Amino acid sequence: MRLVPLLAALAFCTSALAGPNDVVRAYPPQKVSADTYVIHGPQGVPSKANQSFMNNPSWIITTDGVVVIDPGSSVQAGRMVVAQLRKTTRKPVTHVFNTHVHGDHWLGNQAILEAWPNATMIAHPDMIKLAKNGADAFWIKLMSDMTGGYTDGTRAVIPTIEAANGQEFKIGGKTFRIHSSTDAHSKTDLMIEMVEDRILFTGDNVLSRQVMNLRDGTFKGIIKATDQALALNARLYVPGHGQSGDRAFVAEQKVYFDTLLSEVRRMYAEGKNDYEMKPVIAEKLKAYKDWAEWESNFGQQISLAILEIEQE
Ligand SMILES: [Zn+2]
Repeated sequence: MRLVPLLAALAFCTSALAGPNDVVRAYPPQKVSADTYVIHGPQGVPSKANQSFMNNPSWIITTDGVVVIDPGSSVQAGRMVVAQLRKTTRKPVTHVFNTHVHGDHWLGNQAILEAWPNATMIAHPDMIKLAKNGADAFWIKLMSDMTGGYTDGTRAVIPTIEAANGQEFKIGGKTFRIHSSTDAHSKTDLMIEMVEDRILFTGDNVLSRQVMNLRDGTFKGIIKATDQALALNARLYVPGHGQSGDRAFVAEQKVYFDTLLSEVRRMYAEGKNDYEMKPVIAEKLKAYKDWAEWESNFGQQISLAILEIEQE
């Protein structure tokens, strides 16, 4: 009989703890190069279980300060990133790059400004435009809905500095070269090449062992961006999601998209429907079936590829 009020009280405590002042559970950073750290987040969509955290926040320690790339999905995730970053250096964060408009990559900006109010935030001009025109509220609400309100208290801190294709940012002895596109993963994507260390931060233009949600992008653009990533011949590739590594996982993505698009093209010309194409292409791509998000994104990609071909 006494159990009910006790449980109710516990439930109240739990929900009172989650929210504006919370911090995502700690994930350790990996030192991937002399001055570069990456927290490889768990793969999957934001959820209560992962407390919204599922991307790859990274930072580079320069002589003048720290450059952060994609500080995470919420203020709670960003605070965890700040705490981990502080274990690796006492220097302040001076710059933040956001690779694209999807909120899992930039809603952590708020936590950076909490700690270092003068940090400069940089992104694709179309990312800034979209964020100012409603993508901010869209992603804040989506993140809250998917995590049962865990990310509540997160505010949109929208970058103010635009990065152009080919532009180089020289920061503390390091060169950050921008490779941007308007038709790849989100149509607002930056890939950031750290020239001296030959590291390419691909954003979500390349994922590692994960089937991409391409609802905001195009196949043509993502294939072009994957080719470009390979052509840059980096020593290390840091994807938006999944483990960092050499060019092998980038080449795997290239084969995946080339196969999917050419097969859809072939069967579309034969007058086949998406449900007829699906088992044929699934068989051709069976090596990819254990990749993250296969179930949620593979079928959708076939429908999206058909739409794209119809618009040609
Ligand atoms: Zn993402």
